[in-house]
Amino acid sequence: MTKVLEKAAEECITWAIGKFLNLKMSTGLNVSGQVLIDLAAKVGYQGELLFVDTGYHFPETVKLFSELDQRYPGITFRTLSAGSTIEDLYLSEPEKCCQINKIDPLQAYLADTSTDAILNARTRASSPTRKDLQMVEAGPTYRINPLTFWSQSDLETYLSVNKIPPHPLYELGFTSMGCWPCTRATKPGEDPRSGRFVGQGRLECGIWSKPTMAESGFVKENPK
Ligand code: SF4
Repeated sequence: MTKVLEKAAEECITWAIGKFLNLKMSTGLNVSGQVLIDLAAKVGYQGELLFVDTGYHFPETVKLFSELDQRYPGITFRTLSAGSTIEDLYLSEPEKCCQINKIDPLQAYLADTSTDAILNARTRASSPTRKDLQMVEAGPTYRINPLTFWSQSDLETYLSVNKIPPHPLYELGFTSMGCWPCTRATKPGEDPRSGRFVGQGRLECGIWSKPTMAESGFVKENPK
C-alpha cells in the first residue's frame, strides 16, 4: 500500500517542481515532514526547506533540523526566526503568540521571496480539522500536500523501510510536534494532533487556515 501512496506523492511533488518557478517546502519535523523531505529529495527537489523557530521548540526538534542537512545535501535548510520578545505570551494570548512567532515569519518570508507554491506534509488522518484536505490547494501561494491520504501507520512504515529514525520524542507519544508549552504526548487511539495546543480549544495554529481557491489544475483521488 505504501508503494501506491509513494508513487502518488512523488507524482505530485514532480508536478509541483515542473509547474512552479519558486517552490519551497516547510516542515515542523513531524514524521510526515520527515517522509516528505525524503520523498522530495528522491525526486530531485533542490529548493529550500523552511523551519520556523518559534523560540519554544523542544531542543530535540532544533537538533534534528540541524542534523538533517547532512542527509539531504541537495536541499537548502533555512531557519526563520520568531518575531516576539514578549515573555510567556503563550500563556496570556496563545493565538497571538502563534501569529507573531509562527505565522508572520513564514508569511513574510514567502512574500519577500515571491514564493508561488509551498510543499507541506499535512495529512487527512492527523486531525478532524484536516479531513477534507486536498493534495493541491490553489491560491496566491499554492499549497501542495503530497501526503494527504497517508495514515500514521503508512508514515511509520515508510520511515522504517527507509531506515530514517523518527523524531526522538515520537516514540514517547509526541505524535505531532509543536512548541513545548503547548504540546503533550498522545494516548493510543487519539488523533495524532490531539496533543497540540493543550487547553486552548483549538487544533491548528492558523498557518494553513486561510481559504484557498477551488481550482488547482492537479486533481488526485485517494490512490488507496
Ligand atoms: S504553539 Fe504555543 S508557544 Fe508555539 S507559537 Fe503557538 S502559542 Fe506560542
